[in-house]
Amino acid sequence: MKEEIKAYDNVLDLIGNTPLIKLKKITHNMKGNYFAKVEAFNPGHSSKDRIALHIIEEAERQGILKPGDTIIETTSGNTGFSLAMVSIIKGYKCILAVSSKSSADKIDMLKTMGAMVYVCPANVSADDPRSYYEVAKRLHNETEGSVYINQYFNELNIEAHYKTTGPEIWEQTAGKITHLVACSGTGGTISGTAKFLKEQNPEIKVIGIDAYGSVLQKYHETREFDSNEIYPYRIEGLGKNLIPTATDFDKIDKFEKVTDESSAHTARELANTEGLFVGYTSGAAMQGLKQLDEEGEFNEESNIVVIFPDHGSRYMSKIYNDDWMNQQGFFDTESELIEQIEYV
Ligand code: PMP
Repeated sequence: MKEEIKAYDNVLDLIGNTPLIKLKKITHNMKGNYFAKVEAFNPGHSSKDRIALHIIEEAERQGILKPGDTIIETTSGNTGFSLAMVSIIKGYKCILAVSSKSSADKIDMLKTMGAMVYVCPANVSADDPRSYYEVAKRLHNETEGSVYINQYFNELNIEAHYKTTGPEIWEQTAGKITHLVACSGTGGTISGTAKFLKEQNPEIKVIGIDAYGSVLQKYHETREFDSNEIYPYRIEGLGKNLIPTATDFDKIDKFEKVTDESSAHTARELANTEGLFVGYTSGAAMQGLKQLDEEGEFNEESNIVVIFPDHGSRYMSKIYNDDWMNQQGFFDTESELIEQIEYV
């Protein structure tokens, strides 16, 4: 008998089809059944692999991209990593314009994945020619055969999740999902997933997680942009100081806001209760679930799916570092610090 070799063609074959994992310990005193869609299982360790692959393959289908062409985006985060990874496999150049606030680790990681990184000053306005938005636009205009991903304003960001994340969750829950809870940054994840799920069952309730200091919740309630809502916060990837067109506010029933401090502690709690080493926004989403449960949002029959966007390894110098936590004033007491050191 001839055995076939079982191997993937390349890492891109592993994008999507992430597992749904029950959350049992951290939810022990909460009403309902909780399931986490753990996006860290993507090869680039985040949900952004889905949009990178979809947007690039859509440009290929439309004949916009040819081998050797260039992918351009403004991000030092997960999207940058995913775009670099897809570009390497498919033979594109990847140019990322990033803010000078980005950590050296992040920039090194992108360079390791073959990206060309332009570091732009953080302290200039978005319309300044030196800003990373303007640098990306200029490079796009100057570079023939280039695609500007523009994730905050790209409909394909929503479509990627409509075509993959939504159907996966519907199938994994056998259609029994009652609530979807997800972080909102560009809004692509929550909008695309919600669109698919609500088409199957309009009764499914969709709740977005937002940060204090972001305009999303207020905009959802009033449909007006209120700059008074904006102030600095620490969670990266959650909330926004502008209204992204990649967010379909009509598909979201409500937003729940979470603090930097509670989200950081809840991320640590996920690691030492469920063994899930996930990112800061996953902590934020879990924190949102706790608050929603306290507000009486769920009952014993609820089947709640929460999306955990990325892996914990990207936050070693932040929420998983005791000195950082201490500097932020996130450890209230000396005993809390000692307890953290013991389990970290
Ligand atoms: N978490 C992290 C870590 C992210 O990088 C992002 C993307 N900005 C999100 C959550 C939110 O996902 P989306 O952009 O699809 O709303």
